[in-house]
Amino acid sequence: MKAFTFVRPRTVDAAVAALAETGGAVHAGGVDLLDRMKEHVDEPSHLVTLLDVPGRDAIALEDDGGVHLGAGVTLAALAENDVVRRFLPSLAEAAGQAASPAIRHRATLGGNLAQRTRCGYFRIASFSCLKRGADACPVRAETGVQETAAVFANEPCASAHPSSLAPVLQSLGAQLGVQGPKGARSVSLAEAWRAPEKGVAGDLALAADELITAIVVPPRTRPQRVGYEEVRQKAAFDWALVSCGVRVELDDDGRVSDASIVLGSVAPTPWVATAAEAALRGKAFGAEPIAAAAKAATQGATPLSGNTYKVRLVEVAVRRALTRALEGAKGGAR
Ligand SMILES: Cc1cc2nc3c(=O)[nH]c(=O)nc-3n(C[C@H](O)[C@H](O)[C@H](O)COP(=O)(O)OP(=O)(O)OC[C@H]3O[C@@H](n4cnc5c(N)ncnc54)[C@H](O)[C@@H]3O)c2cc1C
Repeated sequence: MKAFTFVRPRTVDAAVAALAETGGAVHAGGVDLLDRMKEHVDEPSHLVTLLDVPGRDAIALEDDGGVHLGAGVTLAALAENDVVRRFLPSLAEAAGQAASPAIRHRATLGGNLAQRTRCGYFRIASFSCLKRGADACPVRAETGVQETAAVFANEPCASAHPSSLAPVLQSLGAQLGVQGPKGARSVSLAEAWRAPEKGVAGDLALAADELITAIVVPPRTRPQRVGYEEVRQKAAFDWALVSCGVRVELDDDGRVSDASIVLGSVAPTPWVATAAEAALRGKAFGAEPIAAAAKAATQGATPLSGNTYKVRLVEVAVRRALTRALEGAKGGAR
């Protein structure tokens, strides 16, 4: 690993100023960042750590029923916190299944959303990669290793987005609180992603001197059910092959008035299964519409020759997540 200077600001403003001044990288838990630095994929001269910024690990139920999650909350805290377990059960579920206990105690929510793809071509400096500036994505080549690659929107880059918390938060309508040199802004997580571009490693549309300060999940306005499911190869210490967060709003007759179904690890950014959402709307929430929605979730898939199996996993994950929602997790305050 190349030597770097560790900068320890004590406020968000000082962290933003240090980023602008040094051109360094944000350091939270360091789980993803140090891994990339050890592999020489990233070699920042400065790390601006958020470890000394107070309040970054706050979890609070707001007066309007929304839930505020500081960007520095660890995955372990998300999985164990009473407010999260009661009001955001699908998020607690996703956080509790991620990685391993040791990693969950170090890894933060902000770092989880901003982590880079696990695509092997991106993570090994000696391979070429479109996100690191190459003209083409080697995953798409006949010789490419494609097993865990994206099956939707996988051109020009077939990397899969690694976060299993992002789809859940997006299904819950979460907003990102962001702070930069021009002040604070709030952006819907659904609108915060950018499609892969040559030479752009990050998937969140943030400037280099902007920080995620918090994630806010709005209060529910109607009765709703939520669910989370993931399919993974190993029981622990690994990323999901496919993950799925769902939120289903019901009217007084138990019909679906709105649905949000978001998948992880299937596209370069979290993937909204719009056909599946449409298949549920207006239907009495039950096993048959769930099966139809799960099937519809595979519409538009463009698997590569080495990962057609992931399309079947999409159907399985969506069916299971919706079934979990049907079985009862209400989610959301109010
Ligand atoms: C074996 C293993 C298994 C894993 N399994 C899963 C899994 O199943 N599901 C899953 O979702 N993840 C999984 N992960 C990934 C893990 O959750 C992330 O690496 C971790 O959450 C990153 O958080 P961090 O605080 O360590 O971030 P860091 O490594 O410090 O930062 C990660 C990136 O985010 C940026 N960043 C950090 N904080 C902020 C901020 N506040 N604002 C702006 N940018 C920021 C950094 O600059 C860096 O680019 C796994 C990791 C390992 C090692």
